[in-house]
Amino acid sequence: MIELQGLHYRYAQGPNLHFPDFQLGPAPGVLLRGASGSGKSTLLALMAGLLSATGGVLRMAGSDLSAMNPRQRDAWRGANLGFVPQRLHLSAALSVRDNLCLPYLAAGLAVDGARVEELLSTLGLQSLAARRPHQLSQGQAQRVALARALLRRPRLLLADEPTASLDDDHAAATLDLLQQAAAQHGAVLVLATHDSRVMQRLGAVLPSLSLAKLEYAP
Ligand code: ADP
Ligand code: MG
Repeated sequence: MIELQGLHYRYAQGPNLHFPDFQLGPAPGVLLRGASGSGKSTLLALMAGLLSATGGVLRMAGSDLSAMNPRQRDAWRGANLGFVPQRLHLSAALSVRDNLCLPYLAAGLAVDGARVEELLSTLGLQSLAARRPHQLSQGQAQRVALARALLRRPRLLLADEPTASLDDDHAAATLDLLQQAAAQHGAVLVLATHDSRVMQRLGAVLPSLSLAKLEYAP
């Protein structure tokens, strides 16, 4: 499902990040672990096709991302990937329902109204559909961002430090929600974190890819 081989990425004004070789077979997901600055967000961006590797091989769900040009990666991302960013980036001017219609419009696609309603329902957002983001709790806003990531039935669901700014109860609820939503929607969960609470809750369930020993080459 996921394969890294000699993968590296060099920032123009920054480090040359070498990622460990890794293979994920059939599994419900993987934890990307490592201290702050170890390259978790960079690897997520590579996995999302938002950055292009400097060298090596990165295969995601059968596709060799490292061999694609930017246009091919954009198409691949739209068809295969849901992303829950750390900052949720909901549109403040739009209702919850319209926030879920926006990705279709941005991609030049017809809105799949039935899919929007399905996700509002499965994530318990139906009674909040007419609200605007500032009228939501943080947990509710996170559910909207998760619904948005699942709209196009992704095979991979990526989340960057989803518990970083949450208290213990909300962190636990968020992890359960991500895990359940990925399973229910048939997506592989890739969760980047340096939060020990995530390890406590999911460490026994999901394999880990540890970036702790990342080497910096000049
Ligand atoms: P993490 O998510 O694990 O905290 P990052 O992937 O954000 O790590 O960063 C990995 C390393 O790359 C850090 O040393 C960081 O300073 C550096 N880095 C990240 N983004 C850039 C950038 N745009 N330009 C230069 N260096 C960067
Ligand atoms: Mg990061």
